[in-house]
Amino acid sequence: MTVMWDLPDYDGHEAVHFFHDNDTGLSAIIALHSTHLGPGAGGTRFWHYENRETAVTDALRLSRGMSFKNALADLPLGGGKAVILADRNRTKTPEMMAAFGRMIDSVGGRYVTAEDVGISTADMVEVSKQTRYVSGLPVSNSDHAGGDPGPFTAKGVYLGVKAAVAHKLGKTDMDGVHVAIQGVGSVGGGLARLLAKDGARLSIADINREHALSLAGEIGAEVVGLDEIMRLEADVFSPNALGAILDKVSIAHLNVPIVAGGANNQLATPEDGQRLFDRQILFAPDYVINSGGIISVGLEYLGDSDVDDVNARVDRIPGRLTEIWEQSASQKLPSAIVADNMAQRLIGRA
Ligand code: NAD
Repeated sequence: MTVMWDLPDYDGHEAVHFFHDNDTGLSAIIALHSTHLGPGAGGTRFWHYENRETAVTDALRLSRGMSFKNALADLPLGGGKAVILADRNRTKTPEMMAAFGRMIDSVGGRYVTAEDVGISTADMVEVSKQTRYVSGLPVSNSDHAGGDPGPFTAKGVYLGVKAAVAHKLGKTDMDGVHVAIQGVGSVGGGLARLLAKDGARLSIADINREHALSLAGEIGAEVVGLDEIMRLEADVFSPNALGAILDKVSIAHLNVPIVAGGANNQLATPEDGQRLFDRQILFAPDYVINSGGIISVGLEYLGDSDVDDVNARVDRIPGRLTEIWEQSASQKLPSAIVADNMAQRLIGRA
């Protein structure tokens, strides 16, 4: 019999809670990777998993990623993640969200939730009726941290792309720099608008072609095919859609000196970080460059911050990335490994 501790993705997680609510049928997992720096914070994913094993794997991996992301964002928060095992139709009711809120509350504040894939702000409002260990709630005052994290994530990615261009290409402005953006939703679209203002040359691709065309018209970008965007000759490839897009095959076809974008978990396997390094492609570790959103959500939860504090912390993302790239060069290690090592030290697991 395989138990939790034997699973390949178990990484010294402090606790993994399995819940079931008989009245609504809701099943959920809350994984706490580390509370070394503070309560384990990370969003809730609402997803239909083909089997329970993949749900457990997702919870284990995502909660570890949150430990690393929060540590490198200098937040007094640990890493945790919840997954709700949705049915095939993704049935979701307010009663289910209320039951989920009670589950979170029973963990007693060691886990703090927010939105992730499949979860809306309205869902978080339902959850907040049952527990105070929740963030990402609507804000009525725009001077206060919180609300939609997308614009803060986009700003951090924009600053990270600029830092990468300065580090790799020695260019301090974005005028004429060619950036290929995969996915122009909340993060990629925000990034594209910021880069357009700086005079960057933009190529964009999105499965929602209508949306891509309309954005392209607005900011003067070129829309390219979904298969084309990762092979384009450009200065930067910026993934802002799916995870696991950087693998043996796609890396071999990259035609850029820089990969820097907001999508979570871009490397299909740890070896792919080495592959980018071997090709001398500068890679911005995703959980560092995309931490603007958790900075906003985290400070909202901590309750003592305003938008200026969020922006001041987002402004530190390029400095952190540059530190990682410098260590990557001096230690001859892929940037993803350097970032993991830094995070492990910060959470007391060197
Ligand atoms: P979103 O849903 O607003 O945008 C994603 C966009 O990607 C959509 O326009 C979608 O049509 C497009 N897309 C999907 N599959 C695609 C494909 N194969 N090729 C091209 N385009 C494709 O999501 P988002 O909030 O912008 O998040 C984007 C990525 O950034 C995700 O990986 C997410 O996990 C990550 N992220 C987001 C935040 C945040 O604050 N929103 C924070 C950290 C990380």
